[in-house]
Amino acid sequence: MAASAEENFIEQDAKPESDSEDTVENGVEMEFSEEPMRGLKPFQYGPLFSGLLKQRIQRCISSGPSFKFDDLQVQLCSETERKAKPAPDKLVFGHEFTDHMLEIEWTLANGWGAPSICPFHNISLHPAAKVLHYAVELFEGLKAYRGVDNTVRLFRPDQNIQRMLTSAERATLPLFDSEEFLKCLKKLISVEKDWVPDTTTSSLYIRPTMIGTEGSLGVSVPNRSLLYVIMGPVGAYFPTGLKPVSLMAEPKYTRAFEGGCGNYKMGSNYAPTINVQVEALEKYGCQQVLWLYGPDHLLTEVGTMNIFMYWINTQGEKELITHPLSGIILPGVTRRSLIDLAKKRGEFKVTERPFGMAEVIKGLQEGRVKEIFGSGTACVVCPVKEIVYKGERLQIPTMEEGAPITMMFYKELADIQYGRTPSDWVVPID
Ligand SMILES: *Cc1c(COP(=O)(O)O)cnc(C)c1O
Repeated sequence: MAASAEENFIEQDAKPESDSEDTVENGVEMEFSEEPMRGLKPFQYGPLFSGLLKQRIQRCISSGPSFKFDDLQVQLCSETERKAKPAPDKLVFGHEFTDHMLEIEWTLANGWGAPSICPFHNISLHPAAKVLHYAVELFEGLKAYRGVDNTVRLFRPDQNIQRMLTSAERATLPLFDSEEFLKCLKKLISVEKDWVPDTTTSSLYIRPTMIGTEGSLGVSVPNRSLLYVIMGPVGAYFPTGLKPVSLMAEPKYTRAFEGGCGNYKMGSNYAPTINVQVEALEKYGCQQVLWLYGPDHLLTEVGTMNIFMYWINTQGEKELITHPLSGIILPGVTRRSLIDLAKKRGEFKVTERPFGMAEVIKGLQEGRVKEIFGSGTACVVCPVKEIVYKGERLQIPTMEEGAPITMMFYKELADIQYGRTPSDWVVPID
C-alpha cells in the first residue's frame, strides 16, 4: 500500500500539469533531446526522468522571457487609505510597511504576467502551496537611503538582484531580466519616496521575495510562483553608537554545509536558526550565534551577518581576514564592499581564507586579535565583545581602543550610502 501511494506521488510529479499543456502555443515546447545532461546517460531517461527533465527544460525556457517594466501597472491608494508615518526613533525592524507593494505572477503556462504596483495587501494561497510545505522560497534585503542632499539612493542593487537570480535558480523559481526588475523596483521606491526617513541613521528596508504558489503536494518544480517586494522604514541599528554583542559559539550546531544551500538567501536556511538563537540568549545571555563549521571550528557567520577579524597575523602583519566564498556562507554585499574598500585603502593585508577558533584563541592570548565584527545590510558593521566557547567567556578587545577599523568601515559605507562621498555603487531614485 505504502509503495503504491509513493508511486502515485512520483507519478503525479512526472506528468506535466494540465496548464502546462499549452506551452506549445507560447513557442516554448521543445523536442526532447537525446543529448546527455551533465553525467546522466541517455538510457537513464525512463518515462519518469524524461517527464521531470522536460518540465525543467520548459521551466527554464518559459521563464526566460522576462516581465517588462513597460507593462507595469500602477494602482495607488487613495489619500485616506495611506498610513501615518512613524517617527524614525520609534521604528522596530520589520514591523512597519509602506502603503504599496510590487507584485508579479509567473505560471509555467503563460510565463511572467505584467508587473503591478498596488496597495499593500494580504496574499491568498492554496493550502498546498509549495512554499508552505517545502519552503520553495527566496528573499533579498537591501535599503534605500535619503542622503544629506535629500536624494534617495539604492546601494549596489545589481548585487542583490544577481544574488536573487542565483537563489531563484537553486530554488527552481523562475528567472527574469535584472534590468527590468531594477526599473520596477526604482518605480516602487519612487512611489513610496515619502517613506524614506530623513535621518542619516535610518533608511527604507526593501524585501524582495519569491515563493512557489502551486497548490499541489509533489516535491517538484512549481508551475506557479509569485514575486513580490514589500518595504518598510527602519531606524538606527545602534541608536546610541556602536554597541558590541556577545556570541554563543556552540560546535554542535551547523548553519550550512558543503553541497548545501548556505550560500543562497532561501527561507529554509533561517527557520532552524531561531531555536539556537533562543538558546544563546537563555543559556548564556548572548545576543547572537557564532556559526562554527567542521572539526577546526571555523568561524563562518555571526547570526545573519558575515564575519571579519582584524588582527596581527603570525608574520606580524596587520591583516583583515574573513571566511572565503566556499559555499557555506552567504555572499554578503556588505562583505564584498568592505573587502573592496579595504583593498583600495591598502593600509593592511586583506585575506579571504578559513580561520578557526584555535587561531583566534592563540591570537587573543598573544594580544594579536584587535577587532572582530559582523557585516550586513541591517547594521553595516556590528562589533563583537565576547565569544562563549567550550564553557569559557573569551573577551574580544574590539571596543578597547574604540574599534577604529570597524568605525572606519562604518563611516566609509555610510558616507557613500547617504551621499557624502560620490560613488558608482549608488543608484539615485528620481
Ligand atoms: C543577508 C545575509 C548576510 C549579509 O548580506 P548583505 O548582503 O551584506 O546584507 C550575511 N549572512 C547571512 C546568513 C545573510 O542572510
